[in-house]
Amino acid sequence: MELAKRFDKQKPSGMVRVFQAIDNMHDVLNLSIGEPDFVTEPDIVDAAAKAAKEGFTHYPPLQGYLDVREAVCAYWERHHGFKATPDEVCMTVGGLHIPWLAFGALLNPGDEVMLIEPYFTPYESQIRDNGGVPVCIKTREENNFAPSIEELRASATSRTRAIILNYPGNPSGRVAARKQLEEIAEFAEERDLIVISDEIYESMVFNGTHTCFANIPGMKERTLLASGLSKSHCMTGWRIGYVFAPKNVINKMCVLSSYQTYGVNDLSQKAACYALNTQDDKVKERAKVFGERMKAVEARLNAMKGVKCHPAEGAFYLFPDISGTGLTSEDFTWRLLDEEHVGVIPGSAFGATGEGYIRIACTQSMEVLTEAMNKMNEFCMKLSK
Ligand code: PMP
Repeated sequence: MELAKRFDKQKPSGMVRVFQAIDNMHDVLNLSIGEPDFVTEPDIVDAAAKAAKEGFTHYPPLQGYLDVREAVCAYWERHHGFKATPDEVCMTVGGLHIPWLAFGALLNPGDEVMLIEPYFTPYESQIRDNGGVPVCIKTREENNFAPSIEELRASATSRTRAIILNYPGNPSGRVAARKQLEEIAEFAEERDLIVISDEIYESMVFNGTHTCFANIPGMKERTLLASGLSKSHCMTGWRIGYVFAPKNVINKMCVLSSYQTYGVNDLSQKAACYALNTQDDKVKERAKVFGERMKAVEARLNAMKGVKCHPAEGAFYLFPDISGTGLTSEDFTWRLLDEEHVGVIPGSAFGATGEGYIRIACTQSMEVLTEAMNKMNEFCMKLSK
C-alpha cells in the first residue's frame, strides 16, 4: 500500500531506534527507558475498578471530569503554590498529547517555536506537523542546559511565536535556577511569546528547587503548564496528562480533541483523581529511591575513563559527557549495546547540543544499575587501551 508523502521524512527517532534494537535482543541491561520501574499502586487500580463498576463507562466530558480537574488544581497549589481554577485545566491523553493540542491551537503556518537543546525528541516533529518551524537553541552544560537572554535574543525573529521549556529536563536531568527562568520570562515578555512549560518531572528534584514557570509574575497569562501522572504516579500506561492554560486556549484544545480522541479514558481520569488526592507520601518515597540510585550511578560514571557526570539534579536521568572516550554519542551507544548489552540513548537524539553525551535512565533496580555500570566500566577500559 502506498504511504502518504507528507510523512516521508518522519523516521523512527534516535530514541525509538534504540528501543527497537533492544526489543530484538535478549538479556539487555536496559537503561534507555524513560518510565518508572514501579507499577501503579494497587489502591489507584482499585479506584479505577470501582469507577467502572459505578458506571463510568461512557464518553467523558471533553475537558475532563470536574473532580479530577479540581484534584489537579489542588495538587499544584499544595506542592508549588500555583493557583488556578478547574476551568483553566484540560485533561489529555498523556503528557505527549499536550504539545500537539497546544501547537494546533496556537500556531499559524510558519510560526517559529524555540526549542531548547537538548530537548525531548517528539516536540520537534509535533511543531512541524502543526505547521510551525522549530528553531533549535544551543545551550551549555555549565549553564544547566538553560539559555541566557542574550542567546535567546540572538535567535529571535519576527516569526518567533513560542518557546518550549522542560525543567527538570529530559534528557539532561537538570533543574533550571529561578534566576535563569526569570531571564526567559523577561525575554517572553519582551517578544510577547507563548511559553509551553513541560513540568512533568516536577516531583523529582534532588538538588535545587523546582520553579513553576507560571508562578513567575506576569507569566501565568502567557504560559501553558504541561504535566501528567506518568512519572510522578507511575501511570505511563494509563495515558493521562493535563495542561493549565488560559481559558480560550483550553476551549480550542477541547474542540481539537473532539475531532481526535473525544476526551480521555474515564477510568484513567477517575484513577488520576484518586491518585492526586491521596499519594503525596508515595510520590516522595519513590523520588527518594530515584535520588539514591542517581547518586550511586553518578559516582560510578565519574570513576570511568573518559566519562564525566554532573551531580544528579532532577527527573531520573543522568546525562554524562562521554566525549573523553573519543567516540561519538551514536558510536558509544551502539557499541555499548552490541558489545556489552547495555542500552542507553545517544545524546545526539536530543539535538546537536547532546552530541558527546548519553542519556542514562535510572529506572531499574540498584542491582541492574550496578551490573550495567560494571559492564560500561569494562567497555570504557577497553576503549582506553
Ligand atoms: N514530556 C517529557 C519531558 C517526557 O519525558 C515525557 C515522557 N517521556 C512526556 C512529556 C510524555 O509523557 P506521557 O507518557 O504522559 O505522554
